[in-house]
Amino acid sequence: MVDLQSQYQRLKPELDAAMLGVAADCTYIKGPALVEFESNLGAYLNVKHVIGVANGTDALQIAFMALGLIPGDEVIVPSFTYVATAEVIGLLRLTPVMVDVDLESFTISIEDIKKAITAKTKAIVPVHLYGQSADMEAILAIAKEHQLYVIEDNAQAIGSDFTFSNGETAKTGTLGDIGCTSFFPSKNLGCFGDGGAMFTNDDELASRIRMIANHGQPRKYIHTVLGVNSRLDTIQAAILKVKLRELDDFAHRRQAVAARYDAALSDITELICPTVMSYSSHVYHQYTVRVTNGKRDELQAFLKEKGVPSMIYYPIPLYDQEAFAGYHNGVRHIHTEQLCQEVISFPIHTEMEIETQTFIIATIKSFFTS
Ligand SMILES: *Cc1c(COP(=O)(O)O)cnc(C)c1O
Repeated sequence: MVDLQSQYQRLKPELDAAMLGVAADCTYIKGPALVEFESNLGAYLNVKHVIGVANGTDALQIAFMALGLIPGDEVIVPSFTYVATAEVIGLLRLTPVMVDVDLESFTISIEDIKKAITAKTKAIVPVHLYGQSADMEAILAIAKEHQLYVIEDNAQAIGSDFTFSNGETAKTGTLGDIGCTSFFPSKNLGCFGDGGAMFTNDDELASRIRMIANHGQPRKYIHTVLGVNSRLDTIQAAILKVKLRELDDFAHRRQAVAARYDAALSDITELICPTVMSYSSHVYHQYTVRVTNGKRDELQAFLKEKGVPSMIYYPIPLYDQEAFAGYHNGVRHIHTEQLCQEVISFPIHTEMEIETQTFIIATIKSFFTS
């Protein structure tokens, strides 16, 4: 699905120098490369504060802690997403309130957010799924009206731009109160292990986040709140500093792969290529299509037999996962259920060779014409 090996080979001299620099300095925790990376990423995203943490799941957890949410508070999340989004909500004894998604964008449904709001609702977590933004203008308007926090799960969309109806643009992850991202190796900006970051324009929130991520200590051995130990290692930050310079190029490479899939697959009537929403650019963390003739699993088996990898993100609605059984109110989400049956993601990454993609495309096409 991804080719981390070729990307490493292409950037090897810079990446190796970055890693060896940290090894030689022995600045493993909170070293200069971390400070520089946080600052560079802040400049790239045009956001005031970037705080590196240990992974994207921790970023989400720390966000809820920093906003002071307490057990019983309700948080609205899409039912079609990766588990991490809702997992931390449950762990903190907050209540995840799942809502359906939009069939076209795969992101949280605006109408269903409105219906899910109660007196206990405290926050909305839009997930910018597969590499494009949820409808943030609508979400921010709802949040303002009901005084809710917005925490963006930007793990799949770092670098994508949201465009407001007045033409202004901003990077995803910088629109809500707190943005969260992951640097898991296969993400669009990936390190060599686990990593994550949080973004905010709010000074007070930024210092709370830093304090919570560091054992709740504003100063050494002074602990004012219960915190966690969640840091982005200097060696990972050094790697990310190199890769951040490439991030726009990474997106262009992914967009070129997506454009070739679009051109080749759009005439297959049983398959729907991804829609790029007018309000977002798409950085194609995944290239995910819908197979509408009920033969998605057959297609996947066929591809596997021919040596073409594919993945189903995600096969099961969150509310049907045993871990979330307690949060299921019995209402089934028709779009989420339909997408769980229809979606399939094809290989997409920064190092895709034309010949490889031509083979993948021919194999996909042969399934539908045979
Ligand atoms: C990857 C991912 C996460 C979690 O990130 P980790 O760094 O793996 O903890 C959260 N949400 C979404 C949508 C993701 O894709």
